[in-house]
Amino acid sequence: MIIHLKKETGLEKANQIATENQAFLIEENDKFVLISSSSQKTIDSKYNEFVTETFVFANDMQLSSKEYQSKTREIQFGNVKIGGDTNNTIMIAGPCSVESEEQIQESSALLKELNLTMLRGGCYKPRTSPYSFQGLGLDGLKLLAKMRKEHGLAVITEVRDATHVQEVIEYSDIIQIGAKAMYDQGILRACAKTQKPVMIKRGFGSTLQETVQCAEFVLSGGNPNVAICERGIRTYETKTRFTLDLCGVAYLKEFTNLPVILDPSHAMGHAYGIADLTRACTAMGVDGLIIEVHPDPTVAKSDASQQLTHQQFKDLLTTVHPVAKAVGRIIV
Ligand code: PEP
Ligand code: MN
Repeated sequence: MIIHLKKETGLEKANQIATENQAFLIEENDKFVLISSSSQKTIDSKYNEFVTETFVFANDMQLSSKEYQSKTREIQFGNVKIGGDTNNTIMIAGPCSVESEEQIQESSALLKELNLTMLRGGCYKPRTSPYSFQGLGLDGLKLLAKMRKEHGLAVITEVRDATHVQEVIEYSDIIQIGAKAMYDQGILRACAKTQKPVMIKRGFGSTLQETVQCAEFVLSGGNPNVAICERGIRTYETKTRFTLDLCGVAYLKEFTNLPVILDPSHAMGHAYGIADLTRACTAMGVDGLIIEVHPDPTVAKSDASQQLTHQQFKDLLTTVHPVAKAVGRIIV
């Protein structure tokens, strides 16, 4: 249940009401917002003098629901805005992992050439094998910070576990919570305490409800800037790496106010299908796309098979613009 309290309630009293109702408390400019379990359907009449509005929900998708806020959340994504009244679809691009200064300089130069604003690159890689490249860690974050300074790009990079979450919050413009880290309570709770935007990638074995509830951890802790990324789920199919759940995307757009970002690269797992998939994703009128691009995919230290060459990416981008236009969107 979400309960709005008058600002005149005062923080002390609002805290008391929150405690009595086992609710989270968020202080907004003009009101206090209490969020308790969706199993709560009414509030005691003794609070009537403080309460202005109440919202009852069927399940714990509450702050993220269209029922509560019908417009998609507007989030400052680096140098551009997504959601809200914008028609922006942000195109995020860059390598799977930051590997060297030379590599990330080349990636940055590509983005600048194409007028794109957000560079991706993982520094803490959640690899399936402990013997694979694990990322450059803090040195990689420093390289991303250098790209921000030298090229004016915004950066998105992933947090693998709670031990380095503060580092990622400090160095990134958008915090990426990876599919394997989606349930990490340490990460979610730390991200709730900052105002930096967060992109939560749906776990490949997670339902939509579970994914949205991870977003609720961040939202209810006071950070309103959360987007969801669909990157493919595991099905019985083995020919492609994962199965991109576009039906799930339609669901998220219909029932949640969270901006949706699509990642065709991890879903497909192979470079050959990415251009077609990206056009299909764009046609869904989503708020963002995230694509892996590498100066030389053949030597990439992670996800080599799915990364596009710079030329492949440029060709793809040219064909994406008219698709975006056809559905009233602008690629930024
Ligand atoms: C990535 O973005 O490189 C990544 C590891 O993605 P995911 O968490 O979706 O597997
Ligand atoms: Mn990757």
